[in-house]
Amino acid sequence: MIEFIRVNKFFGKLHVLKNINLFIPRGEVVVIVGPSGSGKSTLLRTINALERIDSGEVRVDGVSVHDPKTDVRALRKQIGMVFQHFNLYPHLTALENIVLAPTKVLGMDRKEAEDMALQILEKVGLREKAHAYPGQLSGGQQQRVAIARALAMRPKIMLFDEPTSALDPEMVGEVLEVMRELAAEGMTMVVVTHEMDFAHDVAHRVVFMDHGEIVEVAPPEEFFREPREERARQFLRRIL
Ligand code: ADP
Ligand code: MG
Repeated sequence: MIEFIRVNKFFGKLHVLKNINLFIPRGEVVVIVGPSGSGKSTLLRTINALERIDSGEVRVDGVSVHDPKTDVRALRKQIGMVFQHFNLYPHLTALENIVLAPTKVLGMDRKEAEDMALQILEKVGLREKAHAYPGQLSGGQQQRVAIARALAMRPKIMLFDEPTSALDPEMVGEVLEVMRELAAEGMTMVVVTHEMDFAHDVAHRVVFMDHGEIVEVAPPEEFFREPREERARQFLRRIL
């Protein structure tokens, strides 16, 4: 579903992605971990062409993402993204936030979009908050609306960049719970997170990055029990 083939990227002189090779099959949940500044966000953002690359290739479902001939808008419709900061429209209700893209971008009928939005809100446990404005919701609830909004586009892939990092600790669980359910349904997911319990329980594979390199890729049971690489061991010692 997602392929990185010898991908390199620079920000000026800074080599932020170094010869990245990674294959993510459909339905897989990959959790990316690593120190701050190691290139996790940049890697994620190359998947939907929010960042360009300098060499190599990224493919999504066989489509070469950075090929000038590729229709980036069509590609992005298939890829949901959730960030640390929820960026909901403050002047729109939860329901309206969710309905916006399906009606505007997919041309979905308003009633149909609202029915779907309500179903998705139900799924993330917020059916009763459909008509609340973001300012009336907790951080955890806002992030669940942001996930619902991404899901309303019926994406093939969901990307999460530290979705719980900005939340008060008591709200982290409810967001991770929604992500766990999504994983259980077979969604292809790439998740950058510091939530190691989530990585341990939900990831099919953990990718450890450091200084722009993928240093280790392993199933979570192996990665957390006995990482092969010294840099990964040091990282785990620091955070666990
Ligand atoms: P992570 O998500 O692992 O913390 P990032 O992918 O955000 O790391 O950043 C990787 C490196 O690239 C860091 O050194 C960061 O400072 C740098 N960087 C990120 N975005 C830009 C940018 N737009 N311009 C220049 N440097 C950047
Ligand atoms: Mg980041």
